[in-house]
Amino acid sequence: MPQAVTTAATNVTQTGRKRWTGRAVVVWSVVAAVGLALASVAYLWAERLTTERLRVSGAQRLEVYAGSLENLLGKYDFLPGTLELSDDVIDLLQKPEDGALQRAVNEHLERLNGLAGSTSIYVSDLRGITLAASNWREPNSFVGDNVAFRPYVRDALRGRPAGFYGVGTTFLEPGYFFAHGIYRNGRMLGVATVKVNIERLEKTWIQGTDKVLLSDEHGVIFLTSVPAWKYTTLRPLSADVRRELAATRQYYSHALTPLDIRYEPTRDDGVQFVTIRAAAAGSGADTSRRMLSQRLSLAPRHWQFIYLSDLSPARSNAQTAFLLACLLQGFLIVLYLYMRQRRRSLRLKLKAKEDLQHAYDNLELMVAERTYNLKQMTRSLSDEIAVRQWAEDKLRETQNELVQAGKMAVLGQMSAGITHELNQPLTALRTMSDNAAVLLDRGRIDDAKANLGIISQLVGQMGTITGQLKAFSRKSTGNMAPVAIQPAVANALFLVERRLEQERVGFRLNVHHQDACALCEGNRLEQVLVNLFNNALDAMAGMDNRQLTVSIDRQGSRVLICVADTGPGIPDDVRARLFEPFFTTKEQGAGLGLGLAISERIVVEFGGILRADQAPGGGAQFTIDLPISEQGAVHG
Ligand code: ADP
Repeated sequence: MPQAVTTAATNVTQTGRKRWTGRAVVVWSVVAAVGLALASVAYLWAERLTTERLRVSGAQRLEVYAGSLENLLGKYDFLPGTLELSDDVIDLLQKPEDGALQRAVNEHLERLNGLAGSTSIYVSDLRGITLAASNWREPNSFVGDNVAFRPYVRDALRGRPAGFYGVGTTFLEPGYFFAHGIYRNGRMLGVATVKVNIERLEKTWIQGTDKVLLSDEHGVIFLTSVPAWKYTTLRPLSADVRRELAATRQYYSHALTPLDIRYEPTRDDGVQFVTIRAAAAGSGADTSRRMLSQRLSLAPRHWQFIYLSDLSPARSNAQTAFLLACLLQGFLIVLYLYMRQRRRSLRLKLKAKEDLQHAYDNLELMVAERTYNLKQMTRSLSDEIAVRQWAEDKLRETQNELVQAGKMAVLGQMSAGITHELNQPLTALRTMSDNAAVLLDRGRIDDAKANLGIISQLVGQMGTITGQLKAFSRKSTGNMAPVAIQPAVANALFLVERRLEQERVGFRLNVHHQDACALCEGNRLEQVLVNLFNNALDAMAGMDNRQLTVSIDRQGSRVLICVADTGPGIPDDVRARLFEPFFTTKEQGAGLGLGLAISERIVVEFGGILRADQAPGGGAQFTIDLPISEQGAVHG
């Protein structure tokens, strides 16, 4: 059964963990997805921002480049028209065979060309034959060339001042041609053409990885910051256009191959992205590059300025933003986890503190409770001790009284003997004193003196008897002191001496250890011995052999006093009850049954033992076993 419970508990825990793990997977997946989405937004935002910056700077550049081109061209716009102000030019057109005039115009044009900074200036007649040119001194001078096929000359001859970019047929130099009709009195006499080199502008366009190009209305790139793109086209040329260009020899014999450009649809804000394959660009290492394309139309000339911004900064900025967003989110997640962990550990700490406080409060309560109980117990114990003390005092008092009563009983038993003991000397005293009076009357002074000496001895004997009785009947002091054993035995013997004599009992004292002392009270030790002697004499009454033997021995740290008799001994049933108070086998009035009970109590109080055994001679033997005292006895 407990195993089943454990299995169920384990299952619950595992299910809980699984559910938790499943939830955590979902939560963290959502967090990762949101984080990725936010990073992507940051990517797009940074890309768009940088693109916008590129667009603005591209537009500004375009304006600047277009402005400088227009400035350059504008400077020469008026120049061909001013040639009709020269009379020499008019005259030459009217008299083309005049060599001096031709020379003068040639020199004039040469000077003018030098002053204006143009590439060349030349004047053609209405047939398109060049009559004078600034480069008249050069071997391949334009003088005599027919330029009627050039569109700008054609337009000027038709009365439309024209501009045209093209590659020169003589020197194959590209340039911008300005052509203007020369009129006198409203009649056209010829055409003046000024050619300007605008290729130097290209050099100022080269800006880092950005690219600039200028194309004509057919999409032919004729000025560009990328040399490889020159005379390529933005889109394939139609056959008609190719024919026309061949006829005008605008780009001389250049192949005009189209660039490999892929155009993306133009955005609402006018921004367009293009991808240009590098193979077409001829740079070799690159494969293809996506760029921001911005156009500016130069309306009157049908040209288009195109500025291509490199998008790699936008891409790297976007990547950086993506990375930063990821890092920031990572940091926030780590911060969140750290804060959560911190909160958790704080909560645990708080809980532990609360538990500790609770335990502390409980402990205090328990301590107070226990202290109260202990106080109660101490109080009841002190009450109990007081009661016990009182009881003990009472008991001791009673015991003392009992001991005293025992003593009195012994004295009472001995009273007949004592009376006899005192009567004998008293009778002798009476006789001796009567005799002494008679002897004095008869003048026998010496005999009377001898009588008085005997009287004094007898009084001394009586004093000794009464002194012993007084000492025996004295109440015990309760003070323990070293007591010499042999004198104590002698004192006790004195009290029963008379009985020994009367009952013809033999007495023997065996002292194996002289001067033996025990720590006890002499008076009470004597009481015990008197008791034992009296019992022994009682037991031997009527026996043929009556012998009382007392021996004093030492056994280690003990003193042994043995009292043996030749009585009948103690039967087993009596031995079992020997020390019971009021147990006696004696006739009524002969014994109270208190002697041995009191004696045992006294010996135990001395720290000793009272034993009853079989005597070697067959009677009873009582042994008082007391702790020895090494100090000498104190006599009081
Ligand atoms: P009591 O002498 O008044 O009877 P004790 O207490 O002194 O009281 O003695 C109890 C009993 O022990 C005696 O009645 C006796 O039967 C027995 N007893 C004591 N001493 C001896 C002894 N020496 N020999 C045999 N019996 C004894």
